[in-house]
Amino acid sequence: MSETQTKVIQGRTGPWEMVLGLEVHAQVASNAKLFSGAAVGAGAAPNAQVSLVDAAMPGMLPVINRHCVEQAIKTGLGLKAQINEWSRFDRKNYFYPDLPQGYQISQFKDPIVGEGEVIVERDDGSIFTVRIERLHLEQDAGKLLHDQDPNATFVDLNRSGTALMEIVSRPDMRSPEEAAAYVKKLRTILIYLGTCDGDMEKGNLRADVNVSVCRPGDYEKFRATGDFSHLGTRCEIKNVNSFRFIQQAIEFEARRQIEILEDGGKIDQETRLFDPNKGETRSMRSKEDAMDYRYFPEPDLLPLTLDPAWIKRIEAELPELPDAKKARLQSQYGLTAYDAGVLIIEQARADFYEAAAKGRDAKLVANWVTNDLAARLTAGGIDIQDSPIPPAAIAELVQLIEEGVISSKIAKDVFERMWNGEGAASEIVEKQGLKQVSDTGALESIIDALIAANPGQAAAVKEKPQAIGWFVGQVMKETGGKANPGVINQLLKSKLGL
Ligand code: ADP
Ligand code: MG
Repeated sequence: MSETQTKVIQGRTGPWEMVLGLEVHAQVASNAKLFSGAAVGAGAAPNAQVSLVDAAMPGMLPVINRHCVEQAIKTGLGLKAQINEWSRFDRKNYFYPDLPQGYQISQFKDPIVGEGEVIVERDDGSIFTVRIERLHLEQDAGKLLHDQDPNATFVDLNRSGTALMEIVSRPDMRSPEEAAAYVKKLRTILIYLGTCDGDMEKGNLRADVNVSVCRPGDYEKFRATGDFSHLGTRCEIKNVNSFRFIQQAIEFEARRQIEILEDGGKIDQETRLFDPNKGETRSMRSKEDAMDYRYFPEPDLLPLTLDPAWIKRIEAELPELPDAKKARLQSQYGLTAYDAGVLIIEQARADFYEAAAKGRDAKLVANWVTNDLAARLTAGGIDIQDSPIPPAAIAELVQLIEEGVISSKIAKDVFERMWNGEGAASEIVEKQGLKQVSDTGALESIIDALIAANPGQAAAVKEKPQAIGWFVGQVMKETGGKANPGVINQLLKSKLGL
């Protein structure tokens, strides 16, 4: 079972805890919009991707995009969630200049996906579970451009009608780190599934963060009884689009609420905005002026009825997901949870690893892929699928280490040369004369000479065997790091009579 690692904030009147629930908006990976055939994609000229439906021309009717429905089902299955064979769209009515219809088509009472869960890893490797309440499909609005003209605001409807999945969690996170780790894991799952590209900079994945504070013990009462009255009033911070901002916004908001409560005030349930420049949240609208959306069933669309056979087919075609891949890498290759966890962050990284690890020392390959190669790729801003060193070349390098042809230390040098395009590992070793000296004859004469020249050190080692390291170091120096450490140790021990 997962242990909680709750962040406790010491106030003037005692300790406080935070309770966090997230509503994540994920743009569905699709070439067309949810209810029209207009194209989706960044980079188009303003209003170049707007059909008559997206512009809400009179008499236009929405037609549901089967692919977007399939993406929502896939995501639901990836979240181990209930797929509702019957669901319905509702109209959420409000006025805003970026919403030409005057309403958003969303799902209210009957979403396409019900309860599920996400297993999340904390930085220290421990895990916890976040329960998913629901996932529903809805359309995105357009965009207002305030910076094009000093006197006017422009409207770009390219995004209008784009399909979003809103994924609502239970309030199961207890620290800023847990909230960020949850979004990270959710993002990884979506990218594995291919249902959202996870690009947070473009706003294709963004979170509304709900924050409340309570006294120690209150949350446990809520978990046991499901009664929200044990919890504090929450504020919702809209559209936070980076892991760092999510954490900063929560930290600020929790402290703001604690201060109000400790001054004897009460928290107004309100919607707030996070200002990344100031690192603070500020009120956008309060519950008093909360909108009445006058939800009602969308009359232009039939309820959505899913064929169970279709759901089964989609399930059968799901890729191996991060948790399953991690477990398999651990059992198949004997990797630690940490190594497996680092490898599965990206599908391509895990694929690269498996291609390189075939028949090789799996742990050693994991080290090269997650350390040296990863560092080089990150520094160069290169995706692992474009790595200039292919998996087979890493495998060859590791084979040379395994066979004792080169030491791990020399292997670092060989790796640098491989990265610089000097050829394959074996060629570099040959050309640069980097073969490890395991030839006992050659090493023996070096050791004999060293012992003869340093009788004091030799006597010291006989007293204190750990001092043997000095001799190993000297032999390494003389051979330019190419001596096989195992062979040196063996020879030294017999020569010094240890
Ligand atoms: P609404 O329908 O008003 O949006 P929901 O019950 O759907 O309210 O909750 C929306 C989000 O707020 C969910 O992610 C939920 O986990 C979270 N949430 C609910 N209560 C709290 C609370 N006391 N503290 C923090 N988050 C909460
Ligand atoms: Mg809500």
